[in-house]
Amino acid sequence: MKLPWGRSILLVLVVAGTVLPSAHAAPGDFEVIEQLTQVRSAIKKASNNVSCEVPAVKSCSFASLCGNFSSKTQSMYLYTNASGQAVPNYSMLVNMQTVDACLKKPFKEDLFTDPLLNPEKLFTEKAAGGKAQLKENQKRYNSEFARANGIFKDVQKRLIAYLQSQRTADNSAAIEASIRKIEIVSMNQLSLNDEVLLKTGCEMPNAFYVAQTMAVTVCPQFLGLPDASLFLIIAHELSHAIDPCNSSYGYLQSDKGTFILDPRTSMPESEYSEESHKGYNRFADSVGVDEHPFKEAIACLNSPKVMNVQTPSRASVLKRVDDKMSFIQEKDSESGEEKNSDAQMSRLQSEKEFFEKHHKDLQFCGPITGNGHAQEAFADWLAVQIVEKKIVEIPSSADAKRFAFETQAYSFGRSCANLSQAMNAKAKKIMGKKCETVDEALAKAELKPDHDHSHPKMADRVNSIYLANPGLQKALGCVPDKTRNACK
Ligand SMILES: [Zn+2]
Repeated sequence: MKLPWGRSILLVLVVAGTVLPSAHAAPGDFEVIEQLTQVRSAIKKASNNVSCEVPAVKSCSFASLCGNFSSKTQSMYLYTNASGQAVPNYSMLVNMQTVDACLKKPFKEDLFTDPLLNPEKLFTEKAAGGKAQLKENQKRYNSEFARANGIFKDVQKRLIAYLQSQRTADNSAAIEASIRKIEIVSMNQLSLNDEVLLKTGCEMPNAFYVAQTMAVTVCPQFLGLPDASLFLIIAHELSHAIDPCNSSYGYLQSDKGTFILDPRTSMPESEYSEESHKGYNRFADSVGVDEHPFKEAIACLNSPKVMNVQTPSRASVLKRVDDKMSFIQEKDSESGEEKNSDAQMSRLQSEKEFFEKHHKDLQFCGPITGNGHAQEAFADWLAVQIVEKKIVEIPSSADAKRFAFETQAYSFGRSCANLSQAMNAKAKKIMGKKCETVDEALAKAELKPDHDHSHPKMADRVNSIYLANPGLQKALGCVPDKTRNACK
C-alpha cells in the first residue's frame, strides 16, 4: 500500500464492472431478451410522467423519504424540478447495466439515453453514435461541469465562512490550518477519455476527494442532478479535506505556489527523502484529533447513540499488517524466492511503526484500518451544517423545502430498499440462473445497496445526521424522531 491513504469515496459500487460486454448474445438468450424488451418498454412508458412536485416527507426518517417512491419503482427518473434537473433511479441504472453486460448488450440503445449516465458516450464516437453526437455529448458534459464548478466555489466560500465563524482563542491555529486545506481544493474536470473515466472511480455513479491531488471529482452520472443535490454531494466531498483522518496531514508549498502533502505527516520516514520536499515551505499544519476544531462533534458522531463508529483497535490494525507479512513469508518459503519480498516486508514494517506512532489520528483513516465510518459521518455532518446555513437564506418556504428535499437525491436515488429490491427481483426472475456473475452481482446489490466497510448504511446517515438536523427538519416540515439528537 502506497502512503498516504487520502482517497475518500462517497460510494463504491462494484456491480456492473464484473461482467464485460462482448459483441453478440448467445442463441439461448432470445427468450430472455424478448422479456427484457417488454420490461424496457413498460419502464419507458412509466417514465413519461415524472412529477415536479416535492413530496411530503412526513417523519424525519429515511423510511418516510423512501416511502414517496413506492409507486416509482418502474420509473427511470424519480423526480424532476422545474429547471429539468432530474434524479435518476440509480438502482435501476446499475441493475440494467449489469443485465445488459451479462447478455452482451443485446439492445442497440441503452435504456437510459442520457450520455452523462453512460459515460462511454462521452468519449467514443461509436458509443455516442457518430462524430457530431460525440461533440454534442461533450458539450453537455462541459456545461454541466461548469454548473457544478459554480456550486463548488459557492460551497467552498461558505465552508470557509463557517470555519471562520467557529474561531476561538483556543482553536485559532487549527481553524487556520483547516481553512488553508479547504482553500487549495479544486474540482477535477475530467479529460474525456476512457482511461480517466473508467479507471479512476467513475465506472459507476460516484464522487470522491483525493488528498494528494487536493481535488474533488464528481463523476458524470451525478452532473445532471438538481443544484441542491450537487450542493450536498460537493459539501460532503470538500469536508473530507478536514475529516478526522485527512486533518492529520499537513501541506507544503513551493516558491512557485504548488502544494504537496507534507511527507513527514503522511508517510513513514523510510518512504521519502529530504530531497522530496526540498524548496517547500510550511503551508497548512497537521491537526490531530485532540486539536480538531470539531472534536466534540466527532466524539458525538462516533458515540453509540449516534453512528456507533467502532474504530478498529491498535492491536487489530497491527495484526492485519502482521498477517500480511506472514502471508508473504509463507509464499516465499514455498517459491524459494526471497529477494522480491524484501522491499515489501520492509515497507510493511515501516507502515507498522508509523501506525503505532500515529495511531491516535490514523485510527480514523478508512484506507488503513478498513473502516471509514468516522470520516464519512464527519463529512456528512459538516456538509449538513453548510446546507442548514444555506437554507436560512432562502426567502420562500416552498423553495427552502424544495432545496432541502433535493439535497437528499443521492440517498433516495441509490439506496431506498423499495427501489433496489423491486428492480432486482424483476431482473432475477427474467434472468433465472442465466449468468452466474449477474446473479452474484444482483444479490450483492440487493443485500448491500450501501457500502459496508467504507461507508455507514445510508439509512443511518440520513436518520442520524441529515434528517436529524433542525434546519433540514424545519424546511421539510417533517416530524422529528425525538430519540435522535443532532450532534453540535
Ligand atoms: Zn465520503
